[in-house]
Amino acid sequence: MRLDKYLANMGLGTRSQVRKIIKDGRVTVNGYIVYSSKTQVDEQNDEVMADKELLSYQNFFYYMMNKPQDVISATNDDSQKTVMDLLTKEDQKKSMFPVGRLDKDTTGLLIITNDGKLSHRLLSPAHHVSKVYEVKVAGVIDDEAQASLAAGITLKNGEQTKAAKVQVLKSNEKNSWIRLTISEGKYHQIKRMIGALSMHVLTLNRIEMGSLKLDTDLALGEYRKLTTTEIACLK
Ligand code: URA
Repeated sequence: MRLDKYLANMGLGTRSQVRKIIKDGRVTVNGYIVYSSKTQVDEQNDEVMADKELLSYQNFFYYMMNKPQDVISATNDDSQKTVMDLLTKEDQKKSMFPVGRLDKDTTGLLIITNDGKLSHRLLSPAHHVSKVYEVKVAGVIDDEAQASLAAGITLKNGEQTKAAKVQVLKSNEKNSWIRLTISEGKYHQIKRMIGALSMHVLTLNRIEMGSLKLDTDLALGEYRKLTTTEIACLK
């Protein structure tokens, strides 16, 4: 990218203002003063300083949101509120999108980014990224139901799911609370898996995706930047 464009993108001024800054010898690239606005910079690897201050150019943005109910996991919608509407005006300008979808009534961990490659990797069936959900079920997940989920289940339309990990957290005569780990992303997968057992999902909350765990300090509807360690672990 041209140096003047880079500096303007970084918010140092308009194109003509940053050209003047460059001409005045106030900008260095990898330690050398450059006077030409046409100098090409590699925004990921070159060290650009203006007035001796290091500028770091961030192309990609990564957030986790604790998605509330009643918002849809889409970038925009004519009639319904989307998760993107919960971002600040500043964050809405970053061309981000949610990684995959949670149903409107599902809560929990949603990654929001503008990194298409990472999103593709996390969603691609080839990568078997695990997703952990806490599920309140209307019905009792007994030993037989657990065994079916664990082995992989035939959905009502004949589709087969892969083996899942099931942990019953608690249950009474009416409901079970389970933690279910799946490595696929079929449409309404958990609801259909539970439906195939003639029970239904009352609440669904995603708590993990791959190496990433939902930050329990985030209230529903809140979001925060991922740390560099969290980003590195996802890649
Ligand atoms: N499975 C579902 O049924 N719904 C979701 O939102 C996520 C997984």
